[in-house]
Amino acid sequence: MNAKHPTALDSTQLNAEPYWMPFTGNRAFKANPATRTLVSAKGAYYQTAEGKTLFDCLSGLWCSALGHGDPRIAQTLKEQAETLDYSTAFQLANPQTLRLAERIAHLAPQGLDHVFFCNSGSESVDTALKMAIGYHRLRGEATRTRLIGRERGYHGVGMGGISVGGMVANRKMFAPLMLNGVDHLPHTWNLSQMAFSRGQPKWGAHLADELERLVALHDASTIAAVIVEPMAGSTGVLVPPEGYLQRLRELCTKHGILLIFDEVICGFGRVGEWFGAQRFGVTPDMITFAKCITNGVVPMGGVIVRDDIYNTFMAGPAHAVEFMHGYTYSGHPLAAAVGNVVLDIIEQDGLLDRARTLEPVLEDAIHSLKGDAGILDIRNIGLAAAIDLAPIEGSPGLRAYKLFEAGIEEGFLFRVTGDTVAMGPPFIATEGEIGAMVDGLRRCVKRVM
Ligand code: PLP
Repeated sequence: MNAKHPTALDSTQLNAEPYWMPFTGNRAFKANPATRTLVSAKGAYYQTAEGKTLFDCLSGLWCSALGHGDPRIAQTLKEQAETLDYSTAFQLANPQTLRLAERIAHLAPQGLDHVFFCNSGSESVDTALKMAIGYHRLRGEATRTRLIGRERGYHGVGMGGISVGGMVANRKMFAPLMLNGVDHLPHTWNLSQMAFSRGQPKWGAHLADELERLVALHDASTIAAVIVEPMAGSTGVLVPPEGYLQRLRELCTKHGILLIFDEVICGFGRVGEWFGAQRFGVTPDMITFAKCITNGVVPMGGVIVRDDIYNTFMAGPAHAVEFMHGYTYSGHPLAAAVGNVVLDIIEQDGLLDRARTLEPVLEDAIHSLKGDAGILDIRNIGLAAAIDLAPIEGSPGLRAYKLFEAGIEEGFLFRVTGDTVAMGPPFIATEGEIGAMVDGLRRCVKRVM
């Protein structure tokens, strides 16, 4: 399978230098670009420029849950481009966007019935934060401007998102651009209490009570919203402790604070339900989404909003713009058409059931690594899993980076951040492929120890 493709390119044929790559060690990549240049994808596999086949262990970047190259998506894109390739969402609409909003509202928890579209997870977060502040202002509580995020949270790279986010490397360089009036809850991971938990850890619900401390410090009348990922994906599949999200919901309700679930990763099946809200049995006031809604094929994000938040904005003269916010590509007809066909495919092919069926397969496979040298922790929920590796002393992140390189040699595209390796295979993966992925991971861990 990994035999060199006859038309393979080598690095001398690829000029990577003009390209400034996001979230990448540019110099390491550019030393040998062909190794990590992807030229095609089908099903659960990528093909590199060198002709190597790689199993897609993270569904692209948590987004290609249906696998790659589905002809139904390609056909929809073509037809939509020929029918209506662009229409602004300012004062106008198109049928695909109307239909998608209706469908997403129907799939979301009851009471969250309005959908605002944007183009990425980062935009969805900044949109939700603006909505929260605007909502309180319109209700006459203009002092509620403070936003509460969580340590180790990832909410994209917009100014709002990095402000409420809790990943220091993403924040430290940009302090002057960050929002004032932000605070953070503690993260929910604790090695001594929850190492190697399967699914939701039993310990840690009380960490939500830290919100009481922040309310006592700042006063509820200054706090607009709390934003958390139900399962924090980017910092390594941090699974919410049992009862934690419920407690957070209770406290937000008690203090009149909006609760935003950032479901950019959880949304559309990753945790075995349409949304993490349903998986964990907690209804927030807003849900942000992106990624899987279009299977990653076309950029799209959005915010699903509780009715009375929407209704609060619907005041003043009917012709006047109620929410001064939106993007040129909000509700893009190509993205919306793909969103509609993605929902069709999930429904027709039973992919939520498939994700639920594969969950114990992934759980058993990944936890079989427990006890292997250098593995500090293993976590999983839905079709998501992560392992933490013992770092190389003095070089944080290097061990996992080496594992990433080893993975490519072995035919697996692993995603690493810090010394964590995250996996979120496509829902179309077979049980055998999940087993092979974990076997490959075991070999790679051995190689880098
Ligand atoms: N929010 C969460 C929870 C995410 O995981 C991500 C990306 O991984 C984002 C926001 C940002 O999304 P994007 O990269 O589409 O801006």
